[in-house]
Amino acid sequence: MIYAIKGINDLLDNDARLYEKIIQVSSKVAQNYGYSFINTPHVENTALFRRSVGESSDIVGKEMYEFKDKGGDSICLRPEGTAGVVRAFIERKMDKAGVVKRWFYHGSMFRYEKPQRGRYREFHQFGVECFNIASVYEDASVIMLLCDIFKELDINYQLKINSLGTPICLEKYRSALREYIKNIENKLSFKFCSDCEKRMQTNVIRVLDCKNENCAKHLDKAPKLSDFLDDDSKNDFNKLQEILKNNNIDYCIDERLVRGLDYYSKTAFEFVSDEIGAKAAIAGGGRYDYLVEYLGGAKSYGVGFAMGIERVMDILKSKDSENIIKNAYFCVLDDEYLDLAYNTVSKLRRLGLSVNLVYESRKLVKHLNSALKENYQYFIAIGSDETKNNQFLFKNLYTSQQKLVDFDELKGLI
Ligand code: AMP
Repeated sequence: MIYAIKGINDLLDNDARLYEKIIQVSSKVAQNYGYSFINTPHVENTALFRRSVGESSDIVGKEMYEFKDKGGDSICLRPEGTAGVVRAFIERKMDKAGVVKRWFYHGSMFRYEKPQRGRYREFHQFGVECFNIASVYEDASVIMLLCDIFKELDINYQLKINSLGTPICLEKYRSALREYIKNIENKLSFKFCSDCEKRMQTNVIRVLDCKNENCAKHLDKAPKLSDFLDDDSKNDFNKLQEILKNNNIDYCIDERLVRGLDYYSKTAFEFVSDEIGAKAAIAGGGRYDYLVEYLGGAKSYGVGFAMGIERVMDILKSKDSENIIKNAYFCVLDDEYLDLAYNTVSKLRRLGLSVNLVYESRKLVKHLNSALKENYQYFIAIGSDETKNNQFLFKNLYTSQQKLVDFDELKGLI
């Protein structure tokens, strides 16, 4: 027997139903905000992610499914969705034309992580990316778009926000943070963990992300990024908070919420939930006004987010009953009526009605028991009595109302 690969799972039955529901709800909400669907490849040149996600990140450093193809090119399975969308934007020369674009995407992402609940090697994200809008109103809109998705799916969350300022603010902040860490190490003879040591060389801001409690404790009094923001970034951050308040969106400011790389700027945000473990991240995003340029395009503003579909599914599973109500059970009491039943069901389906036809003829009571067990709402049967008058036996299994109906009545009942 050959099994599926560890951390890479099938999606079926109730999970598949929830997946479809999440995509449907999220796509509809994104469309309400003016976003349209984009589908980019699952496989890209490795260089794209090395540049965009950054060498100092765990994603590129440790987790990429990267290999040489038969032609010797280095390609990889996408670990995230933004880079491909940015590449598509630049490839269409929309950057040079200054086009405003709002796209949403969904699909598989691949990261070689240690598989555990809520963390898989193939997982799915729903995300949006907006190009060429500098206004902080759009930052608020992508946050509100996510709030609307969670509201529609009945998911509780906490929203954390922060501002990263500009690359100039970040550079000044990096120097201050490095200085602070050196002081701690010298004065308190404390050694930060080996990951932090590496981060100090590659990208010191990621030290703030460290999950090691000792490191975190020693960062309590670290310089605050908010003290390094320029006026424009401060104004935008204040405006963002004003818009969120005006729209009754609760949030808290988390000064440790950072994205270490230079092309991220101003707004950063994360949605967390306690329903699947302590403060599990269910979505994250922010502004990336320098990424398009960084990937070789013309200066273009950008803002977006990615939501983890498996984590949202886990939350829904913890509340959602598996009692899915099916629409109509159609059956025959004798084989000779199967053609008539088949043609009738085809007509009903073409009218947009969901009907399941059972091909085996059985006794009425056996069919009824199956329909009840499988949670159907309506039951329709054809036997000799019914065919005589071109009628069907119809039963509403919820109200137990039963009657003989012709086709026209039947199509109005189910
Ligand atoms: P990121 O692209 O790392 O900002 O992740 C965005 C969202 O994707 C996170 O908030 C998680 O909900 C989800 N996510 C990230 N990595 C994984 C994974 N390995 N398995 C499942 N979900 C993930």
